[in-house]
Amino acid sequence: MSQGSSATYDLYVVGGGINGAGIAADAAGRGLAVGLCEMNDLASATSSASSKLIHGGLRYLEQGEFRLVREALGEREVLLRKAPHIIRPMRFRLPHNPKLRSAMVIQAGMLLYDRLARRTTLPASETLNSDSATPLRPEFNKLFEYSDAWVDDARLVVLNAMAARQAGAVISTRTQCISAAREQGLWTIRLRNVAEGNERVVYSRALVNAVGPWVSRFYNHQLKETAPKQVRLVQGSHIVVPRLYSGDEAYILQHSDRRIVFVLPYEGRFSLIGTTDLEHETTPETISITQDEVEYLLMVVNNHFLQQLNKDDVVHSFAGIRPLVCANTGPAQKASRDYEFSLDDDQGEAPLLSVFGGKITTYRKLAEAALNKLSPYFCDMRPAWTADTPLPGGDFSSPAELLESFSQHYPWLPEELKQRYCRSYGTLSQQILLYCQQLSDLGQHFGAGLYQREVEYLIEQEWALTAEDILWRRSKLGLHMSSREIKALQEYLQKRTQACIRELIEAEQQ
Ligand SMILES: Cc1cc2nc3c(=O)[nH]c(=O)nc-3n(C[C@H](O)[C@H](O)[C@H](O)COP(=O)(O)OP(=O)(O)OC[C@H]3O[C@@H](n4cnc5c(N)ncnc54)[C@H](O)[C@@H]3O)c2cc1C
Repeated sequence: MSQGSSATYDLYVVGGGINGAGIAADAAGRGLAVGLCEMNDLASATSSASSKLIHGGLRYLEQGEFRLVREALGEREVLLRKAPHIIRPMRFRLPHNPKLRSAMVIQAGMLLYDRLARRTTLPASETLNSDSATPLRPEFNKLFEYSDAWVDDARLVVLNAMAARQAGAVISTRTQCISAAREQGLWTIRLRNVAEGNERVVYSRALVNAVGPWVSRFYNHQLKETAPKQVRLVQGSHIVVPRLYSGDEAYILQHSDRRIVFVLPYEGRFSLIGTTDLEHETTPETISITQDEVEYLLMVVNNHFLQQLNKDDVVHSFAGIRPLVCANTGPAQKASRDYEFSLDDDQGEAPLLSVFGGKITTYRKLAEAALNKLSPYFCDMRPAWTADTPLPGGDFSSPAELLESFSQHYPWLPEELKQRYCRSYGTLSQQILLYCQQLSDLGQHFGAGLYQREVEYLIEQEWALTAEDILWRRSKLGLHMSSREIKALQEYLQKRTQACIRELIEAEQQ
C-alpha cells in the first residue's frame, strides 16, 4: 500500500464504532492493507451509548432468537479472555413477578441460557430467596440469578482500533467519508478532515460500510444509490444516579409493558439504569434523553427498590440509536438484535460490504463473518485469528496478578489509581508509568486521579483530542470531576494544540 494523499488499500472501512474497528482489526491481522475513517471520535455514536453488557440476552430467548443467543453466549468467555482489563463477569438478579412471567418459564429460560453455549468460568444460574440486606421492596422475595459480563464499550472500540494499527492499519479519526464510487475496479473514496475542511482521496479494492445507524443513509448520500435494506432507528437512553445498593451484582427489572430495565453498578459511586425503546424519526446526530424516558426509568426502578428516586437524583444521562435490522413495525423490544450483511460487486471487482444491525457482544464474530464473505476477493488472506489473541493491554492472566505486579513495580501509586489503571489499561499502563518513580512524575493533576501523563498517553496512543474524548469515552472521569477541573483540562488541551501548531509552522519555515 502506498501512503500519503492517494493511498491504495485492500480494504477501507467507513465507521469507527465497534463493528468498523472490529472488522479493521481482523482484516489487518490477516495481512490486508487496511484504512478506517471515523467522522468524529472513535465510539462517538452507538458504541459508547450501550448498556455495556456482554450478554446472550435472556429475553431474546422468548423471541426465539436462538442463533443470536448461542453466538452471543459463546462470545462471553472468548471476550473475557481477550480483554480481562475492560470486561468482567457480572451476576444478574431478576426479581420474581408472578404476574409477568411464571417461575417455571424463567427457570426453563435460565437452564437453556446456561446450556446453549460452552461456559467454563462463569457460574451457573440459581434461584435465591431475598435476605434482610436486600435493596428491593418486600414483595420481591424470590430472585433468579444468572451470569453475563460487563464491558467498557468505548474502550473496547479503541482497543480494536489499536489492534488494527498494530497490524498496520491506518486509522483516521475526525475524517468523514463524503463520497465513494467504483472506478476501474477500485473504490475511489473521498475523505474530508472535519476540523480543517481539507479533502483527500484514497483508493481501495474493497469498501466496508460500517456506519451503524447511518448505514442506509450512506447509500443515499455517499454512494448515490438506493439502500438494499433499511434499518429501524430506535433510541435507547440511560440515566446515572448515586449508587442504589452496595453489592457488585446487577438487577434486571421486568415491567408490565414486557420490557426490561437494567440497574448496574457503575464507576464505583454510581448506578447505571437503562434502557428505553423510542422510535427515532430524525437523523442519528440529534439525540438526547427525553423527559418521558427519564420518568419511565425512574418509575420502573421505584416500583422495585426500597430507595425511591426522583429527577434530581439523575447526575448524568446518555442516549444512543440502535440500528435494528428488521424494518417492520411492532414493539421495538421485539425487533431482532441480530446482524445482516449486504455484499455486491462490479463484475467480481470492488466489493462493497455493508453491516446492518449487530451488538457489541457479537462484534468479533460479525467481523469474522464479514471477512469470510470478503475472502473470495482476497485469495492470500490469512485465516481467522482473533478468538485467542488478547486485545492491547489484555495480555495478563488475572486482574489480581496484574494488581500485585503494579504494587511491586509502583508501590507509590495510590490504590484507587492502581485499580483504575488495571481495569482501564491493563498492561498498557506501563506506557503511562514509564520512567515514573513517584506520584509527582505523573505531572499536572487535573482532578479525580487524572494526571498529565495519562492525558498525554491518550492523545499520543489512543486518538483522544478533546476533553470529552478523555472524560467520557477513554474514561468516565467526567462523572467524578467538577466543572472547574474540567475547565482546567480544556485549557491544557487548548494550550497544547496551540503549541503543536506553532511547532508545525516553525518546522515548515525552516
Ligand atoms: C441503548 C442501547 C443499548 C445497547 N446495549 C447493548 C448491550 O448491552 N450489549 C450489546 O452487545 N449491544 C448493545 N447495544 C447495541 C450496540 O451498542 C450496537 O449494536 C453497536 O454499538 C453498533 O456499533 P456500530 O459500529 O455498528 O455503530 P456505531 O457505534 O454507531 O458506529 C458507527 C460510526 O460510523 C461513523 N460514521 C457515520 N457516517 C460516517 C461517514 N460518512 N464517514 C465516517 N464515519 C462515519 C459514526 O460517527 C459512528 O461513530 C445497545 C444499543 C443501544 C442503542
